[in-house]
Amino acid sequence: MNLELSEEQSAVRRLAREFTEREVAPYAAAWDRAESVDRGIVKKLGALGFLGLTVPEEYGGSGGDHLAYVLVTEELGRGDSAVRGIVSVSLGLVAKTIAAWGTEEQKRAWLPRLCSGDALGCFGLTEPGTGSDAGSLTTRAVREGDSYVLSGSKMFITNGTWADVVLLFARTGDEPGHRGVSAFLVPTDTPGLTRREIHGKLGLRGQATAELALDGVRVPASALLGPEGKGFSVAMSALAKGRMSVAAGCVGIAQAALDAAVSYASQREQFGKPIAHHQLVQELIADISVDVDAARLLTWRVADLIDRGQPFATESSTAKLFASEAAVRAASNALQVHGGYGYIDEYPAGKLLRDARVMTLYEGTSQIQKLLIGRARTGVSAF
Ligand code: FAD
Repeated sequence: MNLELSEEQSAVRRLAREFTEREVAPYAAAWDRAESVDRGIVKKLGALGFLGLTVPEEYGGSGGDHLAYVLVTEELGRGDSAVRGIVSVSLGLVAKTIAAWGTEEQKRAWLPRLCSGDALGCFGLTEPGTGSDAGSLTTRAVREGDSYVLSGSKMFITNGTWADVVLLFARTGDEPGHRGVSAFLVPTDTPGLTRREIHGKLGLRGQATAELALDGVRVPASALLGPEGKGFSVAMSALAKGRMSVAAGCVGIAQAALDAAVSYASQREQFGKPIAHHQLVQELIADISVDVDAARLLTWRVADLIDRGQPFATESSTAKLFASEAAVRAASNALQVHGGYGYIDEYPAGKLLRDARVMTLYEGTSQIQKLLIGRARTGVSAF
């Protein structure tokens, strides 16, 4: 693996960094308090090509490799995880999955709009009663002539109230577990689909997280993404790459925690000198720094494997597991460096910790990542 960035990769990272410093970071605290990111950010992300990274140019994407995608995701995550999540879901879980599994018609219908930010995607797998055990989902899609009629509900859907299309997973067959699941592209303005925003989240407050209810939602048979009954494979392929994106966002959080801790430790004085001179404060900062480096290297490895066409799913789980736990540790350590001031929202450490906390939960909890890694190493499935 070559750790030296190409000119294009360096350029896209610079672009993402400048954009984040100008358009994201200065507003992140206010968006958090208002419980909403400014929706204008979506068009700006699209205009810079950030919603179409790795999508082929013929479908409106900006091309680019997965390392470039990771670099952009890290920079956005450094500024505001709520904004990073918009990209990770609409591009990482939806557009890239359409590019991989879609028919020519589906790609032409959705990809140019998703890549430009004219449309936003969301990913509807989790249900009120099924999270980690996603294969036991109960939303049903019944074939009626040239249509499917969908009924059920989805929970915790990122971009849910903003999205124009939901990549939705429903049961089409009677086989138990994941074998009867199919994937659909459902426009969110389809009659019978209603959305309710979830408030009171610990973190990612600027992000539109929603509950979806489907009551007789009729879509044409052409809305099926991938073969009938292969929806679980569609979902797992999306999540395998999605976990890399979450990991990159966590690197961004950990890097922001390091920046904040170093800056504060250099200014704050106790016992007659800046606290950065106290060895135990340096220990906190060193621990954050090691977490940043290790998480970043694990995440880059996934991108490198994907770009070289190598298997990457276990490495993606490894990066997601480590980086999400590292982001929580790093943000908590940064808060410790800030003392009491870390506990009030005038400083960024508290928001970093709140935003980091969900990373060990979604796209597969830490326990689920351990089971996936354990299964890969032992050949024994504990599910
Ligand atoms: P459960 O599955 O009920 O797990 C509860 C606990 O039990 C966890 O600690 C878990 O690790 C543990 N556990 C479960 N099974 C096992 C096992 N076999 N062995 C050991 N431990 C186990 N979902 C979407 O589909 N799309 C989205 O866009 C999306 N965005 C989200 C955004 C936010 C802010 C949040 C909070 C969630 C989001 N989710 C989304 C849902 C998320 O992926 C689920 O919350 C997650 O998969 C866990 O499911 P659960 O909450 O039902 O927890």
